[in-house]
Amino acid sequence: MSARLRIVGGTVHDPANGIDGEVRDICIEDGRITAGLPDGAPTLDARGMIVMAGGVDIHSHLASSSCNHARRLLPEEHSADPTPAPALLDGAAAPRSGTGGTVPTTFTNGYRYAGLGYTTVFDAAVAPVMARHSHAELEDTPCVDGGFFALMGNDEYLLRQVAAGERERARDYAAWLLGSTGAYAIKIVNPGGVEAWKSGQRNLNGLDEPLATHGVTPRAILETLTDAANQLGLPHPVHIHCNNLGLRGNVAVTLASMQALAGRRAHFTHVQFHSYGGPGWSSGAVPIIEYVNAHAELSIDVGQVMFGPATTITADGPVEYLLHKSSGRKWVNIDIELETGCGIVPLLYKDKAAVSALQWAIGLELFLLSRDPWRVVLSTDHPNGGSFLSYPALIQLLMDRNVREEKLKQVNPKLLAGSALADGLTREYTLNEIAIITRAGPARLLGLRQKGHLGAGADADVTVYAEDADIAQMFATPRYVIKGGTLVVEEGQLRRAPVGRRLHVRPGYDDALLPDLKRYFDSYSTVAFENYAVQGIPDDPIPTSS
Ligand SMILES: [Zn+2]
Repeated sequence: MSARLRIVGGTVHDPANGIDGEVRDICIEDGRITAGLPDGAPTLDARGMIVMAGGVDIHSHLASSSCNHARRLLPEEHSADPTPAPALLDGAAAPRSGTGGTVPTTFTNGYRYAGLGYTTVFDAAVAPVMARHSHAELEDTPCVDGGFFALMGNDEYLLRQVAAGERERARDYAAWLLGSTGAYAIKIVNPGGVEAWKSGQRNLNGLDEPLATHGVTPRAILETLTDAANQLGLPHPVHIHCNNLGLRGNVAVTLASMQALAGRRAHFTHVQFHSYGGPGWSSGAVPIIEYVNAHAELSIDVGQVMFGPATTITADGPVEYLLHKSSGRKWVNIDIELETGCGIVPLLYKDKAAVSALQWAIGLELFLLSRDPWRVVLSTDHPNGGSFLSYPALIQLLMDRNVREEKLKQVNPKLLAGSALADGLTREYTLNEIAIITRAGPARLLGLRQKGHLGAGADADVTVYAEDADIAQMFATPRYVIKGGTLVVEEGQLRRAPVGRRLHVRPGYDDALLPDLKRYFDSYSTVAFENYAVQGIPDDPIPTSS
């Protein structure tokens, strides 16, 4: 196909450029959006259709060794959801079959994300030592640009630096680790709590409860890595999964974590799982979202629970133990040498189950009470709160009050007394707000200047939806999807599957770190220092601002 394309006559929603439903042409040349094209350039007729930038998923689990453990755990999902190879056009990359379920195979992930109009996806939790595995999976995940966040909140070398008060050394180590693994951002999961689980202390329950092994507190880990990300000028700030995920009363530690980082740029993830009142099950969404609304330096993704099958995949070992015990479902639990942990438990969120209904309501409360869609963006923490395939149904719940209220009548009301949703939330998201929470906002939070918008110079990632009164149907079946200038979905069918770009950073650091780090590797690590760094990471790193 030609390197030029004019998308003609669509109704454009491009909030990053102040365009809210204007009929205008979008021009593409050599993989980028351009201000104009000469007459006679090839055209794509988008009259009567909605045009947005490609979707950007800020928090998913799709390309990691833990996802692969989850695939092994779920053979029944593979046989229930075979995915034949798509009918790609002649000359395009060889199509691949696979399987779906809550944790699809690599190629199926790429095809299905593209089929939803998503063109950029991040895996939010990769053990640094397993980075090669993630790069290999991303290589086999077509149609999307991808990257991952490196787990650091329970890392042995990091904990030693925090214990010694060596915060600059900790920052240099974080920079080295990002560059050595080809990661994009710093991820913290249950700061200190995973190390507590691995060392027999079981968990840490408050910000100031020290790790018995290191004397380090969650507060010190949060401060150290938040400052590291900001001082290194990383495009995305530190990405935080707080302590006490999923536990009653965890709203206290979530708020304390936000307050501990007051004034510092930070992203808190899947906040629904961290917004529970106590001591009985209740919604704690209101104080959390009011705090977020009042603090412009903070951003969150919601981690909405959608009813249906899910698979929890997390570095948070202790919470997976509790889930396994309470659900009786099969599970995986793995300690990862020196760095982190991993737990996996499949789940079914039922609308008739009181806790599932509460979780569903809390996520919606966070969305509907948010005052700044640029800082409160969409996720289901795929596949933890539900598959990414449920995004269209979630968008419908946000845009259509009637659909939401009908669903509310069907769910178990036992724990919803006093929740803002049960009291009635009339807000309906506009198409522009949906464009913000699914592409423009995540791209901005990730520091991806060429993503999430349709201004000149942006990557030519474009999704065209045929208008439909059924909002879920409209967002589930885009008519056209263009990835980096390539027409990937044509007339609703996947036709091409280009290799995506790798999104990673390589911040600078003081190499006085290296002799000490090498001694540490020689003393404690199974992997030799010389063999640790990933070689041959494709594509140039995204620049840092320091
Ligand atoms: Zn996650």
